[in-house]
Order: sequence, then C-alpha cells, then structure tokens
Amino acid sequence: MRFKPRPFKKPIRFKCLFCLDCCRGRHVYLTLADIGRISKAGHDLQDFVTLSVEGGKVRFVLSVREWDLGCIFHNPETGRCTIHPVRPLICRIYPFMVSRKPIGVEGEEPVELGDAKLWLYYDANCPGVNAEGAGLVITPEEVAELGLRFEKEFKKTDLDGFIELLKALD
Ligand code: SF4
Ligand code: SF4
Repeated sequence: MRFKPRPFKKPIRFKCLFCLDCCRGRHVYLTLADIGRISKAGHDLQDFVTLSVEGGKVRFVLSVREWDLGCIFHNPETGRCTIHPVRPLICRIYPFMVSRKPIGVEGEEPVELGDAKLWLYYDANCPGVNAEGAGLVITPEEVAELGLRFEKEFKKTDLDGFIELLKALD
C-alpha cells in the first residue's frame, strides 16, 4: 500500500481495522532499541533482522515473507501484529509520518516541539484514520515526540552497536 500523505495538524481519531494492508511491502527500519526489545521478547534475530547496505551504511530492516512480502510478524489471516506490545518504533508511528522538511503537500505547516521544526502527515489510504467508532485520539504532539525519538535512536544504530548488542544478548 502506498502512503498518501495529508497534513496532520490537529488531533485525529484512529482505530486499526486490521485491513491487512500496511504490513506488506513496507521497508521497516529497525533501531538497536527495537532489535533488543523484540529479541528479549523471545524472537531470534536471524528470523527478523535483514541487513541492507544503503549509501555506504549498514541498515537493519524488518524481514519479510517471500510469498507476499508481508512482515514476518504479521498474521495473514487476522491482519494482526503478533508482536504488538514490542513492535518497532516506526510501526508505532504509522499511519503517521514525521519529516524535517515539507514534502510539498497542500496545506502543510510545521509543528514546533522544543527547538525542532517538524512537518507531520497521515496516510489517507489507511481506513482506520477517522474510522467510524474510532475512540483513540492521536495528537500531532505525540507523533512528533515519537518521530524525534526514532531520529535519535536511528542515529545511534550502526554495525558496531549491533555487534555490541549481539554480545550483550548472547
Ligand atoms: S492500513 Fe490502517 S487500518 Fe489497515 S492495518 Fe494498517 S493501520 Fe490498520
Ligand atoms: S512488526 Fe507488526 S506492525 Fe510492524 S510491520 Fe510487522 S506486523 Fe506490522
């Protein structure tokens, strides 16, 4: 499913409808904190971590199934995430996204959090956004905080840190 960005400027009601769509064909970057948390929940690193080399840097990406490119933690029958309480930070942010610069969508405006200026969006293709009966209210501030946390964790995520993590988990 392709992310269809719309500016996220005021609180939105959200309820996941488990439509099966957003956990397939996505490139989910993992931070070292994500990898450690999922591993401590009993999952073997070799089952869920895929290494990818991008622009001369090693990145860690959530593994996908070959037959449908679905995340290996996605239950294809129920649409549910089987590691929901420990899922990667990027999955907690979806169906929203956080950018350090505008991406060229009509109506976009920055949100200021501390000294950070961020542009926030939601995915208009996610049927859970403003879904009927949706009780969970998501605010731009909480998404901005998660985005900054991801940025901070992602900066610290490198091969040396991964090797240290392997030793610590051994
Ligand atoms: S696209 Fe939206 S409603 Fe569908 S599974 Fe993902 S978060 Fe839930
Ligand atoms: S970890 Fe869970 S929420 Fe994230 S892509 Fe996989 S199934 Fe979806």
